[in-house]
Amino acid sequence: MPLMKFLVAVGLVALTIGKGSVFANVAGEVNVYSYRQPFLIKPLFDAFTARTGIKVNVVFAKKGLVERLKREGANSPADLIFTVDIGRLSDVVDANLAQPVGTETLAQNIPAQYRHPDGLWFGLTTRARIIVASKDRIKSGEIRDYEDLADPAWKGRVCTRSGKHVYNVALTASMISHHGEAGTAQWLEGLKGNLARKPQGNDRAQVRAIKQGECDLAIINHYYMGKMLEDENQKAWAEAVNVIFPNQDNRGTHVNISGIALTKNAPNKENAIRLMEFLSDDLAQRMYAEQNSEYPVKVGVEWSELLKSFGTFEVDALPLIDVSNNRKAAIMLVDQVGFDG
Ligand code: FE
Repeated sequence: MPLMKFLVAVGLVALTIGKGSVFANVAGEVNVYSYRQPFLIKPLFDAFTARTGIKVNVVFAKKGLVERLKREGANSPADLIFTVDIGRLSDVVDANLAQPVGTETLAQNIPAQYRHPDGLWFGLTTRARIIVASKDRIKSGEIRDYEDLADPAWKGRVCTRSGKHVYNVALTASMISHHGEAGTAQWLEGLKGNLARKPQGNDRAQVRAIKQGECDLAIINHYYMGKMLEDENQKAWAEAVNVIFPNQDNRGTHVNISGIALTKNAPNKENAIRLMEFLSDDLAQRMYAEQNSEYPVKVGVEWSELLKSFGTFEVDALPLIDVSNNRKAAIMLVDQVGFDG
């Protein structure tokens, strides 16, 4: 009966609209698990939704998201995982929680050294592991390379956080690529011999220690300079040090990434890939990098004023997958030399 059919159809449509799923089906949603803070990524997701109509649902946590993904298995609602550091991206892959993506946009926007060769993770921003040096006690040009930090001339003058922290593990892993394990063990020994105190605290705490005269040199991620300068209580720490981009006369400065992976069972895969592409493109690259004083991965995207003030520098061209592959060996060496005391 045509009329009946018509009424049923109208009724169904009305019901669907009433539940809101008509809209959901038009544009859809994408679900993100994020270790990165809301203030960093919320504006990006709003911009994405404004452009595409796709809603982004986010679960934020400081830890445990990988474990949660594991637990949820095939039933996980998560499409994407956001995190910092090649180590944490590698953990997602090692737990077999990621699936490969390969689109032309992603390949064009993200240089090969910052993405997994099979598309299991993608870097969205880079962070340089820099040396900071006391303005008062270290002369310009006295320290140029990571290798210099192991020179016995600096005995008792270097501060660092734990050798096992992901940032330092990645740096040590890059040293293994360039110097081999024996050479890197030697470097770690030398560095340990120069420490002013047992490794402790976070990156900013090392800069405070320089300000307070406990040490003269430290290794930190570059964006902490920006964070300290913005903080009334920490500004003086940052102002007590000069920024040194290491290894400018040879291989370039070690950089790490913040990045993203598509989950193995992503229920909204198409939308998730659209979000990944959006994040790799000019607008999001500019916003994302600016929010946290990080460097965009996409070539040609304008830098924040702070980054411009640091100046350009040579970056170590070592692919991050090589850093990832050397992480285990790096952790073993840190243990072997008893770096953390
Ligand atoms: Fe950090």
